[in-house]
Amino acid sequence: MRACVLHAAKDLRLEERRSAPLQAGEVRLRFGAGGICGSDLHYYFDGRVGDFAVREPLILGHEVAGEVIETGAGVSRVKAGDRVAVNPSLPCWQCRACQAGRTNLCARMTFFGSAAVMPHIQGAFQERLTVHESQCFVVPAATPFAIAAMAEPLAVCLHAVQRAGALLGAHVLITGSGPIGALTCLAARHAGAARITITDLADPPLAVAARVGADETINIARAAGQIERYKADRGQFDVAFEASGNPKALVTCLDCTRPGGRIVQLGMLPQGELGLPLTKLTPKELDLVGTFRFHDAFGLAVEALVSGRLDVAPILTGTFDARERDAAFAAAADRERHMKVQLVFDG
Ligand code: ZN
Repeated sequence: MRACVLHAAKDLRLEERRSAPLQAGEVRLRFGAGGICGSDLHYYFDGRVGDFAVREPLILGHEVAGEVIETGAGVSRVKAGDRVAVNPSLPCWQCRACQAGRTNLCARMTFFGSAAVMPHIQGAFQERLTVHESQCFVVPAATPFAIAAMAEPLAVCLHAVQRAGALLGAHVLITGSGPIGALTCLAARHAGAARITITDLADPPLAVAARVGADETINIARAAGQIERYKADRGQFDVAFEASGNPKALVTCLDCTRPGGRIVQLGMLPQGELGLPLTKLTPKELDLVGTFRFHDAFGLAVEALVSGRLDVAPILTGTFDARERDAAFAAAADRERHMKVQLVFDG
C-alpha cells in the first residue's frame, strides 16, 4: 500500500509501505478521502509547525474517512464494509485531563500526523489505514467520503462553539474565513447565533462564508473602515471567534467585543511576544479562552453531517489524487481559488 510521506519541506513522496498485522481492537480501512489541514500545509511548506520540526519521515494527514476492510480480534463497533469517519485522536484515558472528560487535553495523546514527539506519530494519508475501533464513527453508505472526512475540522469548530458558551440570539464576530472560519460560521448558526459577521483579507473565502450563512462579510484589507463601527460603546459583539491566528485580528476582537463578552482563540498565534493590548481585558471584564481540537464534538459533527443539518459542500473546493500531491498542497495554500482540498487514492 502507498502512503504520503514528508521527508523535508516540499519533499512529499508517495512510498510503498507494508501494513502490520492487526492487533486486538484494531481496524483496517481503505482510504476514502482526506482533507489537507493548516498544520499539514505548515509541515509541507516549512518542514515544521511552530516548535515541531519534521525530524524523521512523517506521513501527513488527520482528516479522513474510509471503508472498513478488515477487523482485528475483539472488534465489535464496526464490521467489514462499514463506511466510517475517523477520529484522529487516541487519548490515554488515564491522565488527569482524560479522567476529567477533557480528552483533547490528554497528556499522552496520540494524534495522527504530528511531529510533536519522537518517534513522530504517523498520519492518515495511507491507502490502507490502521486505526483503533474507538476512532471509527460509522456513517451511512450514502454519505460521500468527502463529507465524512469533514467531521474532523467541523468537530474543531463545534468544540470552539462549546467553549463560547450560549450563543442563542448572539451577535458573533469571526476573524478569518478559511475552512475553520467558515465551518465556525455554520457551527455558530447551529448553536443559535442571530447575526454573524466574518472578516478576511481576501474576497473569495468571504464569498464562501456568505454561501454558508454569514450575514455580513468584511474585507479588512480593502475596507477596514467597515469594522470601525463595531468599536462603539467599547464593543458590539457578544462573542468573537479568532480563527486566523493573526495577532492583529485578536486586537480587532479585543476592540469589538462588548463589555462582558467572550473571545475564543481558535487560530494558532505566532511564537514569541505579541505586544497585544490586554489591558482591555480587565475593565471590559472580557473572557478570553483557548480552544484546542475536540472531544465529544466529533460525534456531534458526524451526526450533523450525516443528517444534512450542516451543509459543508460549499467549503469543499478540490479533490486530487495522491499522485498529484504537490498540486494538491499548492491548491490548498491558494486562498484565491480554494478552501478545503482533499486527497484520494484512485488507483
Ligand atoms: Zn490522557
